[in-house]
Amino acid sequence: MKKLCFGTFATILKICMAKRVTQKQLCGTMLLSIAPTYDIRSDDGTVSDLILGKKNLSPVVTDAAPDVDARDISVFFKEKVLPMLDSNKNSLIVLALKDIIASDDTIEPETIVEKVNNMTKEDIVSCNSFVLEDFLAGIFLYTVLNVENRNCENSVREITDEYIQSFETQKKSIKFITTYNNFSMEAANEVAIDARALVLLAETGGRCQKCGRILGIKKEGNDINYAKIVRLSETDDIILCVDCEREIRNLSEEDKLALLSDKHDLEILVKARDATSRHEIEKQIEQVLREVDLMDVTADTQLKMEPIKVENKITEKRLKERVLFDVRRFYEGVNDTLDRLAGENKLNVDRFAKSIKRMYEDASESQISQSAIYNLLVETLFEKTGRKYREACEIIISYFVQRCEVFDEITK
Ligand SMILES: [Zn+2]
Repeated sequence: MKKLCFGTFATILKICMAKRVTQKQLCGTMLLSIAPTYDIRSDDGTVSDLILGKKNLSPVVTDAAPDVDARDISVFFKEKVLPMLDSNKNSLIVLALKDIIASDDTIEPETIVEKVNNMTKEDIVSCNSFVLEDFLAGIFLYTVLNVENRNCENSVREITDEYIQSFETQKKSIKFITTYNNFSMEAANEVAIDARALVLLAETGGRCQKCGRILGIKKEGNDINYAKIVRLSETDDIILCVDCEREIRNLSEEDKLALLSDKHDLEILVKARDATSRHEIEKQIEQVLREVDLMDVTADTQLKMEPIKVENKITEKRLKERVLFDVRRFYEGVNDTLDRLAGENKLNVDRFAKSIKRMYEDASESQISQSAIYNLLVETLFEKTGRKYREACEIIISYFVQRCEVFDEITK
């Protein structure tokens, strides 16, 4: 285990300092940022003991540290300390500090280790873009305030030139930025509103949830089709066009509840789809289809192979949306996979299609709703292929709905 202390911190900087700089200049200057009268820039002995992790920092420094403004220390580091470092080695410094912080078991994941921006150990370990002066000043403050420097000799001894050089291959992974997301509150609010609108629009497929009109996000030249977020309850926002938003006040409680329940269905739909990435899903679809050939078919059913629009086949609004959603995203993908598996003789597509059709007929005899049948088909496919990928099964059933193997066309 490595250990973060003033000694290991200063040793990393010492190894990465510019050639013309001495360790007492570097170490002495850093301490001046906290205690402007405590000048050890010509005191070889004290500096050496500190860097080697032999002694604690002077109380002059540790007593002043709790009262300093971390931002001031960062400004000081930018002006006085960064120029003492070899700028080619900035990434090595960051990588070494990240490594030490990650490996130091005495630091809990939620402990704040960078005190300028209050970054926790976890934040630091997962971050690759840093404001260098904040990063160094914030960690420096942490070592002064939180860690004994005495008895750290062994930890300092591990920080060698070779150790620092070992990060050379990862140098490109570190980016330096001038500020962490410094939005004004106004800009932040605007972004938050837009993001919320985008989420809601994604749920409704870009339409007003009530009248179905296509909506946009920007207001300019878009007076009616402009997406308005409307608060229906404490936890529920919906997205409406300007017209429907105007009428919402006159809606009956019943209509409002209907909108709300609609909205919950939309959320569930989107959540289920977002849970798995597209690539992952396509792999799962293939795996389900590879196992499908083991299913047995007994009936010899005539298939309608001409795809007919989903709109004509399904009467339930929400189920229709779900199937359309899958079909838009995955129809081609499932089609290609079926073709490929058929080509490899891994799957008899006709036989599979027939068995889906047969499952449908069995289910529809019981006079249940289309969505119940849909769910039953999904459940059966899921069951017969080893209960591994339910979402992939839903998409495959949606595909066969589109191909007309499932619901009979509803004549208008
Ligand atoms: Zn509307």
